[in-house]
Amino acid sequence: MNAIIEKLKQVRRGAMFIIEGPSGVGKGTIAKEILKRDPNIKFSVSVTTRAPREGEKDGVDYYFISDEQYNEYVKQDAFYEFVDSQYGNRYGTLRSEVDSFLNVGEDVLFDMDWVGARQMRAKAPDDVVTIYLLPPSIKELRERLQNRGTDSQELIDKRMGMVLDKMSHWNEFDYVIVNVNVEETIAKVQKIISGERMKRVRQTGLNDFVNELIKEASSHE
Ligand code: 5GP
Repeated sequence: MNAIIEKLKQVRRGAMFIIEGPSGVGKGTIAKEILKRDPNIKFSVSVTTRAPREGEKDGVDYYFISDEQYNEYVKQDAFYEFVDSQYGNRYGTLRSEVDSFLNVGEDVLFDMDWVGARQMRAKAPDDVVTIYLLPPSIKELRERLQNRGTDSQELIDKRMGMVLDKMSHWNEFDYVIVNVNVEETIAKVQKIISGERMKRVRQTGLNDFVNELIKEASSHE
């Protein structure tokens, strides 16, 4: 019986969780905390052609690559999804990055925009779960961007200019959370993750387990 319980744990189909929302809404903070608190979910490190912000590490926050390398990945069809122009920068998810986790039944967490989320949903509708974070107000969003202190005023204005466009896609997402309080939002995201893990289609180890239960039940008849 113990062997079956072990198998149940191992044979699970990994899910892909995408968290999106306008810049400054707190996606990064929420994602970091989820990853810190849950060893069964891994972060998909994207590639980008933008320069690292202060404190960002290559291979941890992003793989920081050149335009030439990016073009090469496009040519090789190495991307699961990619978006060619975001604030003049390019972003993409490498197939190799995602597959290495999904193949061993681990969940993957993504930070990507709605364009990428749409591509992922089209490619893997059963495996993708999308969460949209809304700010409590636009005033607060601007303040959060300014307090972050990592972007120039010009970039902040550019990001604020994109808010309307980004937010107009909120209703394409499976779950929506207004990020009023970080701890509450983290708890909500954790509930979504555990609910999604319990979906029958993801518990691929259940067949053997239930067969065992049936065998046991019939031997008592
Ligand atoms: P930032 O430059 O602030 O880190 O990210 C800018 C935008 O690019 C954010 O909306 C972020 O979610 C998005 N992004 C980051 N990585 C990817 C990716 O791999 N694919 C797509 N489509 N968008 C990404």
